[in-house]
Amino acid sequence: MNYIELVELYEKISKTSKRLEKTHYVSKLLKKTPIQELEDLILLIRGKIYPEWDEKKIGVSSKLVIKAINKTTGVSDKEIEENWKKLGDLGDVARHLLSQKRQESLFKRDLIVKEVIKSFRKLSDQQGLGSVDQKLSIISELLVNATPLEAKYISRTLVDNLRVGVGKGVIRDAIIWTYLGGEIDIKYDFEKNDIELDTNDREKYNEILKKIQHAYDITNDFGLVAKTLKLEGLNGISKLKMEVGKPINVMLFPKAKDVNDAFDIVGKPAAFEYKYDGFRTQIHKTGDIVTLFSRRFENVTLQFPEIVKAVKKNVKAEECILDAEAVGIDPKTGKNLPFQKISQRIKRKYDIEKIAKQFPVELNIFDILSYKGESLLQTKFKKRREILNAIVEEEEKSIVLAKQLITNDEKKAQEFYAKALKNGEEGVMVKSLEGIYKPGARVGYGVKLKSIMEPLDLVIVAGEYGEGKRSGYLTSFYLACEDNGELREIGKVSTGLKELEEEGITFKKMTELIMPLVSKNEGKFVKIKPQIVIEVGYEEIQKSINYDSGFALRFPRFLRLRIDEKEVEDINTIDDIEMLYNQQRGK
Ligand code: AMP
Repeated sequence: MNYIELVELYEKISKTSKRLEKTHYVSKLLKKTPIQELEDLILLIRGKIYPEWDEKKIGVSSKLVIKAINKTTGVSDKEIEENWKKLGDLGDVARHLLSQKRQESLFKRDLIVKEVIKSFRKLSDQQGLGSVDQKLSIISELLVNATPLEAKYISRTLVDNLRVGVGKGVIRDAIIWTYLGGEIDIKYDFEKNDIELDTNDREKYNEILKKIQHAYDITNDFGLVAKTLKLEGLNGISKLKMEVGKPINVMLFPKAKDVNDAFDIVGKPAAFEYKYDGFRTQIHKTGDIVTLFSRRFENVTLQFPEIVKAVKKNVKAEECILDAEAVGIDPKTGKNLPFQKISQRIKRKYDIEKIAKQFPVELNIFDILSYKGESLLQTKFKKRREILNAIVEEEEKSIVLAKQLITNDEKKAQEFYAKALKNGEEGVMVKSLEGIYKPGARVGYGVKLKSIMEPLDLVIVAGEYGEGKRSGYLTSFYLACEDNGELREIGKVSTGLKELEEEGITFKKMTELIMPLVSKNEGKFVKIKPQIVIEVGYEEIQKSINYDSGFALRFPRFLRLRIDEKEVEDINTIDDIEMLYNQQRGK
């Protein structure tokens, strides 16, 4: 397939905000895609070159892309940068400058998808001495053969800023529309912006959707899901398995109002567990090999050597996948450390042993997803915990099971909750004994109970420069929540950030993090590529016409950075906010 066909898709989907219309365009292209190219195409549609669980990234700086544009067009770096400032997007700059280039290369050939992704992958493999030159020649080779429009999307993919607005849901639905054309006839109606299905087909569709979502949740690989569906149908999909070594989506928990509400949702008796405030860790063990993943699938094995050691020593299973929370422990006092302290360990590449001694962690295991090569996702929680009891040899301050109380007694539950809070935990998790493990979903198999007003995870979409001693730093940040694939603003935060590093996250640090993501400068105001997720506390949620979400936060304050834990897709939705708004009004 020619790359230009994919580029035409990018253009079409970025011009509409309608999710179903986007799905229609993606599905149309998938229908034309030969099986050998399917996986590559599905990755590229979202600007990726490897499946989610794979750590390899393209890793090209804007600077290098500028150099490549210079090499291809002859326009100076300085002029390219000026254009960049003016247009605000490197892809648009590439397009503009390539279209001005008068002389066409004599040997220009059509780019094909296979070749383009191969070049992208070569870039991710280049490391070390001389790699910059190698990278430059790979990018220039692509640009020389590209049309201006192709150059726009090549550049954007290179700097990991595709911005065509296609979420995972669109890909999932497009896969269904493409390969289930036989089972149910799915036709998109442009006028109504809907697919017309009768009740029967709608039910069938929802069933299929659940199966496809599940297949994705355990493989994190839409290419594999699409290929399997095309070749083996739904039968093949139900045979897809999670694999030790490949992270799977973790189960999420909605919030309950109080102990009674928690019992209502999960049933009686229920398992109450301490809700530890740490770092969610998925542990894959096979023989002597232990691999640790963050909830965003980053491989953090090297960063937490003490966990690896403890799992090897104390987990008596040849093969298993565990779900756990790693909690920082102060080596002097033995008390829990705030999350910010151990968060420094997540990306650490040097002095790992030193910082491990300074901020050691205790692993609190709360679930098991696979044992002896068999999936436990359909196994009841009660049984899963029994397996954990049998295979984990607890060792205080190193590796323990989440503290648990099984009860149907409200008073006992309340006491346990109070004890958790007294102990400095965030609250409790309340889990259904009969519940299965549902990756990725916020279903009622478990709920969380926290004492404070639920903080929100929101993404920063814009900022403002400060004045006086804070001039030169961004000091106010506009926040957005998610609404069906769109971002909606809900407020502006400036409280909670610090002046001094010892005190926490500073304005300076925040400004440094944000600068590479600025997409537009308008005086004191900057627009920011939505990537930085933060946790925000507040006093109250109010209705408001000031923000396009229709809500505003009263006294918002920055609590912590969530960039190592949450992606934009994980932020709170407008529905969450509506629910919290109603809850606080006692509805
Ligand atoms: P939240 O991040 O507030 O939505 O709360 C859910 C998180 O609590 C999970 O992602 C885990 O990282 C963490 N957690 C702490 N203790 C437990 C536990 N006992 N069971 C499940 N999750 C827990």
